[in-house]
Amino acid sequence: MDMKQGIGLPVFPGVSIGPAVVYRKTERVMPVSSGDPALEQAKFEAAVETARQQLTELYEKAKVELGEEKAAIVEVQMLMLDDLDYLEGVAAAIADGAAAAIAALDTGEECAQFFASMDDEYMNARSADIRDMSHRIYDILCGNTGFQLPEGSFLLVAEDLAPSETIQLPRERILAFVTRQGSSSSHTAILARTLNIPSLVQSSIVLEDAESCEVLAVDGFTGTWYIDPDEETLQMLRAKQAEAAEARNALEAYRGKESVTKSGKKVLLCANIGCPEDAEAAIAGDAEGVGLMRSEFLYLGRDSLPTEEELFEAYKKVAEIMGDRPVVIRTLDIGADKQVSYMGLEAEENPALGLRGLRICLTREEIFRPQLRAIYRASAYGNLCVMFPMVASVWELKASKALCAKIRKELEDEGYPTKEVPIGVMVETPAAAVLAQDLAKEAAFFSVGTNDLTQYTLAVDRQNAKLGQFYDPYHPALLALMAHIAKAANDNGIWAGICGELGADPKMQEKFIEMGYTELSMAPGRILETRKLVCNSEV
Ligand code: PEP
Ligand code: MG
Repeated sequence: MDMKQGIGLPVFPGVSIGPAVVYRKTERVMPVSSGDPALEQAKFEAAVETARQQLTELYEKAKVELGEEKAAIVEVQMLMLDDLDYLEGVAAAIADGAAAAIAALDTGEECAQFFASMDDEYMNARSADIRDMSHRIYDILCGNTGFQLPEGSFLLVAEDLAPSETIQLPRERILAFVTRQGSSSSHTAILARTLNIPSLVQSSIVLEDAESCEVLAVDGFTGTWYIDPDEETLQMLRAKQAEAAEARNALEAYRGKESVTKSGKKVLLCANIGCPEDAEAAIAGDAEGVGLMRSEFLYLGRDSLPTEEELFEAYKKVAEIMGDRPVVIRTLDIGADKQVSYMGLEAEENPALGLRGLRICLTREEIFRPQLRAIYRASAYGNLCVMFPMVASVWELKASKALCAKIRKELEDEGYPTKEVPIGVMVETPAAAVLAQDLAKEAAFFSVGTNDLTQYTLAVDRQNAKLGQFYDPYHPALLALMAHIAKAANDNGIWAGICGELGADPKMQEKFIEMGYTELSMAPGRILETRKLVCNSEV
């Protein structure tokens, strides 16, 4: 095999070598009816049998790998294949002229909505099962085979990856991401940093080449990918791997140390996490807290809203893992690149400027409430704080705080123990930055989302690979806002931190500490090197 090589934009340093898996999005083709209801009905019945076989295999696998209790989820879907209401609904739609695939999907959706409207939490949860089951039948009828993963670890290659896709991947088996699109502040890049895996975005790799290669290697130091590297290159890469491991070991000297500069400025070094399991990575990285839990990851890659109970369990888990350390939970930040299909949100011309973040919560209390109830219930198990994304006006913060107070009172009346939960603002719109003095009078803390603050201040789409040179996080306008935010926090006696990617930038960290930031939150794997920088800093 001849070696091929090319470049990409590195988003996490390190070297990975292994087999490549190419992820391609499934093209959804609109199924058309053959015009013969008897034929469509026969196709549907055959698809039900295929689904039954698939689910039986899945059930056996889940029983071995995850245990009886988790496998029961699959069993419920198998039972639903015999649900009379569903089967009769599909038959009626087919008799009316619908294509089998459309009848399966639409009837599934109707049943799911019926279950969701029932006043019974168990039945509500079944709505996701029936939706899942009908999507399976739909995919079988449309010939969508889905995404087959090999056993063991692999490097994942894709045109681009959306957060709702990455969330479904077996993270512990991914050695690297290599995408042709994406930017360094896209959520794939953020996930790569959380998982400590060398990754490239905007790479020149050809998907077909990756598909047919035996070995793929990624050098996240230089931003180079190699397809079927020759022996000399492999040796060079392995030497780099060993060097990186040595450098990581050397940082162990900073584990457990306080993060204080030589002049005595204390900085809290926290971790950004997505799902509850990442809290383990935060502890392994020696985080002094969680500065940002992106709670929307609990909403991605599924077919229905998580229940209050599910959210509560997730927050409780993080609170317990982190113990006394502070944990900042950001309420749902769906919208822009993080899309879900089940909230009934309309497609938007400008999603980054659309109904996203706190705007969804303030217009849909039924979505906001369970989050806040879950956070207050989980507050009894640790040291939780809450913050709101995409705040642009003081009234938004006041309205959210009022709901928090109402919910805490309600929970106490119901007999739940709760604790005080400091309420902060994610400063990520220029409006919030400019209004920092006013917001600081209402907030317990600020955490600056530099990824969005850069995008909105410079009017540059953070996802657009072509705008890289214009997405300048060192832009003087942005730094002026950053200084203004820190000053407003200090003037009003509240703390200010940074949870955007810029907080982990060693070129900027001392400057931020000088500005008055006392917390930096980043990928867990970045904490020890930042502590080294802080402890050796004169500022
Ligand atoms: C940010 O905008 O900087 C941020 C931390 O949030 P997200 O990247 O999830 O938008
Ligand atoms: Mg943001």
